[in-house]
Amino acid sequence: WRNNMKVIVTGGAGFIGSNFIFYMLKKHPDYEIICLDSLTYAGNLSTLKDVMDNPNFKFVKLDIRDREGVYKLFEEEKPDVVVNFAAESHVDRSIENPEIFLETNIIGTSVLMDACRKYGIKRFHQVSTDEVYGDLPLDRPDLFFHEDTPLHTSSPYSSSKASADLLVGAYGRTFHLPVTISRCSNNYGPYQFPEKLIPLMIQRALNNEKLPVYGDGKNVRDWLYVEDHCKAIDLILEKGTPGEVYNIGGHNEMHNIDIVKLICDYLDKPYSLIEHVTDRKGHDRRYAIDPEKIHNELGWLPETMFKDGIKKTIQWYLDNKEWWENIISGDYQNYYDEMYGKK
Ligand code: NAD
Repeated sequence: WRNNMKVIVTGGAGFIGSNFIFYMLKKHPDYEIICLDSLTYAGNLSTLKDVMDNPNFKFVKLDIRDREGVYKLFEEEKPDVVVNFAAESHVDRSIENPEIFLETNIIGTSVLMDACRKYGIKRFHQVSTDEVYGDLPLDRPDLFFHEDTPLHTSSPYSSSKASADLLVGAYGRTFHLPVTISRCSNNYGPYQFPEKLIPLMIQRALNNEKLPVYGDGKNVRDWLYVEDHCKAIDLILEKGTPGEVYNIGGHNEMHNIDIVKLICDYLDKPYSLIEHVTDRKGHDRRYAIDPEKIHNELGWLPETMFKDGIKKTIQWYLDNKEWWENIISGDYQNYYDEMYGKK
């Protein structure tokens, strides 16, 4: 590990990847960060505008499935580390159209690892999700996901992520590629694409539109402020052991419906906006991470309390209306109209 590390961050124009880039440029002013992103509907270059002029930052528009392009980039840049955030990430979309999830999340990950093998690398880090463990029953609050909990996926999205995790493990074992995997719970914070629960509800509540909640809204998610996730990944890069998996979560379980009510409270909107809609197919009931390993071995702890993080997040969406209004007026609008009805 050296000071002036060169790090390729894939999917850095998306939600967590962009927050990771901001975090890393600040925390490690001697690192060089290259963002590799194909700018799908979920990638947004305007998110990165504040770092575009940073001499330690470079953006490359490239698809992780493009083997030739990826090899060329690795040959030119000779990166030390690759952190793979690039993915199709929306469960609902994976139910509508699974294929692209398999292509990007599985094949794309293997292309990146092949490039790592070919050109040598100090670490390949795969950003995975707690959804690979499937779900837990609501009436067993004593149960949590551990790193050795069997993979037991429900959606095409989580299945594609679990497949990628298995491949990453295989590249570690068979080719001795120095790999690590992190499996994180639900993130929230600035720059999250407006189709995900928290930004969707904020933006619709602000427009006095119905707030569509799946089923009874009792599904439980374990929420983590995005910066805490970024810190955990940085720690895994520096101190984590190759071949290991680390769960990341904040022990902050909440029913979806309570999150929506909290957003209504902050924005001073009536609960009558809430509308229960037909449940998502195969909807997971409860996710809950046990983060003991990363805490005990690497000393990681979440630093942002949910009550502070959610306030900061809502304020960010209020202060950055232009960012999400631009997004929802574009391509995304068609999808959004289809899913949630025209305005
Ligand atoms: P996102 O959808 O906001 O961003 C994904 C980014 O990947 C976009 O910028 C998109 O343009 C890019 N991308 C997609 N396909 C690509 C391809 N073929 N080549 C290059 N770039 C491509 O996703 P996110 O919420 O920031 O999630 C990032 C990662 O973290 C994903 O791997 C996801 O599985 C994982 N994760 C997310 C959460 C969460 O709560 N959002 C929780 C745990 C893990």
